[in-house]
Amino acid sequence: MRVGLDVGGTKTDAVAIDSDGVIVARVRLATGWGADAVVRTVLDAVRSLGARGEEPGQIESVGIGIPGQVEPGTARVVHAVNLGVEELDLAAAVGPQLGAPVRVENDVKAAAFGAYALRSGGAPSSMAYLNLGTGIAAGIVTDGELWRGARGTAGEVGHISIDPNGPLCRCGQHGCIEALAGGGAIAERWGRPGALPVRDVFDAADAGDHLARKLRAGLARGVAAAVRVLVLTADVDVVVLGGGVTALGPRLMADVVAELAASAEASPFMRSLRLEERVELLPAGSPAAALGAALVGAAREAPVTGAAEALTHG
Ligand SMILES: [Zn+2]
Repeated sequence: MRVGLDVGGTKTDAVAIDSDGVIVARVRLATGWGADAVVRTVLDAVRSLGARGEEPGQIESVGIGIPGQVEPGTARVVHAVNLGVEELDLAAAVGPQLGAPVRVENDVKAAAFGAYALRSGGAPSSMAYLNLGTGIAAGIVTDGELWRGARGTAGEVGHISIDPNGPLCRCGQHGCIEALAGGGAIAERWGRPGALPVRDVFDAADAGDHLARKLRAGLARGVAAAVRVLVLTADVDVVVLGGGVTALGPRLMADVVAELAASAEASPFMRSLRLEERVELLPAGSPAAALGAALVGAAREAPVTGAAEALTHG
């Protein structure tokens, strides 16, 4: 059995898959805060899968998707701010106790891989997964391969500036897609307390609030720009939208589709791309991220053993 985990800021989703890539067990638990707690969460999740029929000794590989930068070729995670982790070598921390090789991947790239597997059913195609969460990033999969680029930056579309006079982004540029459409940036500019700030913005916009309407329009504009970039650079068949902001479901989709249609109106070329027909929502509760992590873990045979490995590649 292969195990995959999606370690998120609030919860961790774990799946076990069989040799055909079919999910045979799934557990979800709360993610602890800080490096030690994240390690405990990973171990607890794998043990919980074990309690559902998987003997730890039967685990062939473990893949972990995690928000933050994963240094290429290593299992070292840095700047996972949503988890309270500054730096952590996850393979070194959990590998010995799990007795299986551990691979670590950026969570958006893992989710892209999983969404592709769920969607394509093995048929060759191309897809981008656009994650709309606190920040914005995409993973691109073509013919079953994750496209990382030369330095692992492929898909970081959140920091493409689409408005030099737009709001300041946390990256230092103005008018980035993420500064317009990132859940974190929207919540900050909205500036009112609430558990679901982007939903509050949509509700307030419906009620006619001026700032809310501006923020909501910016969200659609940013997402539409990201979709255009992904299709025009990688010509993916479809862009699948996932992440926390997509809990808005059809309300978000309607805005994005309308924006894509409106922005293409004056251009026969852009209209011919039919972008509004190439956007889909990842179904709520999809196991894509954990499944993708399991596939990443299974795809690479050589185990990453920790510090020595990191030094070799670093
Ligand atoms: Zn930026």
